[in-house]
Amino acid sequence: MKIKEIKPYVLKDQLDKPFYFSQWQYDTRKICLVKITLEDGTYGWGEGYGPADLIKAGIDFFTPFITGKNALEHETIWQEMYLRSLDYGRSGVFQAAVSAIDVALWDIKGKIFNQPVGTLLGGIKNEIIHPYATGLYFGEFDNLTQKLADEAAEYKEQGFKLLKMKVGHDIKTDIKHVSAVRKAIGDDMKLMVDANHAYSFKEALQLSRAIEEFDISWFEEPISPEDYVGYKRLRDKTDIPIAGGECEYLKYGFKRLFENESIDIAQPDICSTGGLTEAKRIATLAQTYSKDIVPHSWGTWVAISAAIHFVGNLDKNPGRMFSEIPTLEFDRTENALRDEVVIHNLHFKDGVLKVPTTPGLGIEINNDALEKYLVK
Ligand code: MG
Repeated sequence: MKIKEIKPYVLKDQLDKPFYFSQWQYDTRKICLVKITLEDGTYGWGEGYGPADLIKAGIDFFTPFITGKNALEHETIWQEMYLRSLDYGRSGVFQAAVSAIDVALWDIKGKIFNQPVGTLLGGIKNEIIHPYATGLYFGEFDNLTQKLADEAAEYKEQGFKLLKMKVGHDIKTDIKHVSAVRKAIGDDMKLMVDANHAYSFKEALQLSRAIEEFDISWFEEPISPEDYVGYKRLRDKTDIPIAGGECEYLKYGFKRLFENESIDIAQPDICSTGGLTEAKRIATLAQTYSKDIVPHSWGTWVAISAAIHFVGNLDKNPGRMFSEIPTLEFDRTENALRDEVVIHNLHFKDGVLKVPTTPGLGIEINNDALEKYLVK
């Protein structure tokens, strides 16, 4: 079970149509995958979320410390990487490298025991997930409100039961967009908004009060992730649940969010917050604070599959027989790396994703596509 090789791959794709959110424009997709191979030839895939070149550098940094170790000892390996990075990068992109390696180890473990990752995490307690569509970014500004309403109606047509849109444009425009999208999807679909921390406290409060009437299921990253107390002040002043956590790392970052009562919904990204090993600890911590968990996900099917197994394993919170079906982020924007590089048998139908029962993460890599998008 000894680790023989750890190989990171940086992949890049130029988008046909650039899109925008409150902070900057996306015109390319760049990700870092990692393949870990054991001495007996067993291999697994992981993915890091964040700047791909830096994640690759992080993986290269950890490689000499964990090569030769027993791949089944994921906590021992995690601890080694944590201690090696503690003094320089206990928060941030170093932890995305830890995450990528950790996810690959869980994929390997599943293949060795011929079991899905969700089972190895302790059991698939939620077989069914209602993923939410992430889309409705800003694009060409002519007729944007109508374009957003049309896009929202398409997600409804595709069967989604939940939908998240971007805000952070300016408050007046945001209100117009949210109103148009709610009208387009009707009352029976959940709608969330995400500002990617574009607003000041005052602006976020003004927006949340103005959109409360549109039945918003959560307001994500309303203000800077540094302002833990501001999040709490906002929570106290609006009926809309507050979500955040995609910029937090490890259980320590989430501890700050929980201790400050900053959020209602925690959104760890499995591929940056410390992998499945640390995400499971974060889930336990969240439970002690009675917080819901909805993972952030922005990558290929390696990342999505890791999130699906994680959500499949989550405890019901609160515990009751007919609690809500859990959700996770399902990015619907253009991404050839997601759609071409990873082979999977996950099918989204009638608003439902089923947790796969194939061994490991349940994914394989298309080597031709990997070669096509590889940054050489
Ligand atoms: Mg977000």
